[in-house]
Amino acid sequence: MINFEYARAKDIADAVSRIAADPGAKFIAGGTNLIDLMKADVEQPPRLIDISRLPLKSIEDTADGGVRIGALVPNTDLAYHPLIEKRYPVLSSAILAGASQQLRNMASTGGNLLQRTRCYYFYDVATPCNKREPGSGCSALGGLNRMHAILGASDACIATHPSDMCVALAVLEAKVHVSGPAGERSIAFADFHRLPGDTPQRDTNLNRDEIVTALELPARGFAAHYTYLKVRDRLSYAFALVSVAVVLELDGDRIREVRFALGGVAHKPWRNSAAEAGLRGQAPNPENFKHAAELVLRDARGHEHNAFKIELARRAIVRALGQAARGTPQSQSSKKIR
Ligand SMILES: Cc1cc2nc3c(=O)[nH]c(=O)nc-3n(C[C@H](O)[C@H](O)[C@H](O)COP(=O)(O)OP(=O)(O)OC[C@H]3O[C@@H](n4cnc5c(N)ncnc54)[C@H](O)[C@@H]3O)c2cc1C
Ligand code: SF4
Repeated sequence: MINFEYARAKDIADAVSRIAADPGAKFIAGGTNLIDLMKADVEQPPRLIDISRLPLKSIEDTADGGVRIGALVPNTDLAYHPLIEKRYPVLSSAILAGASQQLRNMASTGGNLLQRTRCYYFYDVATPCNKREPGSGCSALGGLNRMHAILGASDACIATHPSDMCVALAVLEAKVHVSGPAGERSIAFADFHRLPGDTPQRDTNLNRDEIVTALELPARGFAAHYTYLKVRDRLSYAFALVSVAVVLELDGDRIREVRFALGGVAHKPWRNSAAEAGLRGQAPNPENFKHAAELVLRDARGHEHNAFKIELARRAIVRALGQAARGTPQSQSSKKIR
């Protein structure tokens, strides 16, 4: 048993001043990731700052037609909120493809962004891991790497980001609002998560003394043409081997706008602006989708157990783009099981 102190934050300013005062302290929201990490000895915070009762649980329209989502909105409430189901169904679908109902009831929006990798060695404190202990080595490089990255990895770390929700947020181009000792700022979603480089211990560009207060979705929700396709070892309660979020708009028989992101393949949701640009103005047909997939995967690199992901990702991209173009998404948001 490792002792730790526990304090409940009174408000956002109190949460920020408490975390700024103690370099080892951690926020706890739903606790579905942090408590597991503490039980496995991966995280040993001397102090937990409980933010779960802060008033960050609302979902509201913004003046410019978008939606603001408080960082403590539970994943279930977000997925089933009428505004989200109607205007941003790709987000509902992605959330409902993740975890289990019980976990989604506890998990918060902010915590989902900040959940840590599911690399087996990161959780196994008996093995070297640069993310857990910088400089110790990467056990996955020569070990079991079926779940690991094929894009954007480094010699220091080949872990993937496990979130489903974040893949949808990447194509919706959300903003992350944060608050810290220097005040408030917002971070474009594409800049929130980091690639591992030679500092794999840093998952995001959030400073350690900042709190995520909200997410903001722009007005464009792409409700007519979207899909979230998740390929995994079991049909539920499993992390993605490869997932694809697609949103698009058609203009007659041409693609006016398209965005797609991959999950399960990199240290962050993976978009490729050249592949998206190449599809704009084109017909939504399999040849063009295959070409876009080739562009995304041109620099993909597999390891001993995960090279299959390259072909899997190629097929998943083509299938997901086709589903979205036909307006036949794999939506799970109609299954209301609470
Ligand atoms: C068995 C299992 C299966 C799962 N399967 C999936 C899946 O398939 N897909 C998927 O996407 N997810 C999955 N999850 C992950 C789950 O979605 C996350 O654990 C959850 O979203 C984390 O939210 P939380 O509020 O519980 O975070 P916590 O565990 O409370 O916190 C996680 C981290 O975020 C930090 N944090 C939390 N809130 C804030 C904030 N507002 N500002 C700053 N820092 C903050 C904490 O300090 C901590 O470091 C699974 C989890 C489990 C346990
Ligand atoms: S892939 Fe990253 S998280 Fe996994 S063992 Fe290597 S350094 Fe650690």
